[in-house]
Amino acid sequence: MSIFTKIINGEIPSYKIAENEDFFVFLDINPNAAGHTLVVPKKEVDQLFDLGDELYLKLFQYSKTVAAAIKKAVPCKRVGLSVIGLEVPHVHVHLIPLNQMADATFGKKEKLTEVEFIALAEKIASFL
Ligand code: 5GP
Repeated sequence: MSIFTKIINGEIPSYKIAENEDFFVFLDINPNAAGHTLVVPKKEVDQLFDLGDELYLKLFQYSKTVAAAIKKAVPCKRVGLSVIGLEVPHVHVHLIPLNQMADATFGKKEKLTEVEFIALAEKIASFL
């Protein structure tokens, strides 16, 4: 079972933003930038391009919706999207508020307090 399935099941806490039948959305615990969000299919599949077509298309449709909420909630030039998966073998889309190229690189990390995480998750959720 992946760490994201444990988060989806509530066995591990997360700064949750939203959930529906197919997806669970929460803040990345080690963000490139404030507001860095993960959109995760509840179905545990390792690699993006192994998703069935229907779930794959739904994932990007829903990521678009979540990105629009991030754009409203977090000051940024644009919201970037990455799919990596080298650390957690459970499909997830990274949605990252971008102001500079470094925000799109996974070497740069932002330290946030618990209060800041909670406020960000609530603010993004308020625009969904
Ligand atoms: P990737 O698999 O795409 O290379 O990276 C996995 C991402 O998931 C990383 O950005 C990492 O910070 C995030 N991550 C890993 N474990 C946890 C966790 O337990 N909670 C949360 N919220 N994010 C996690």
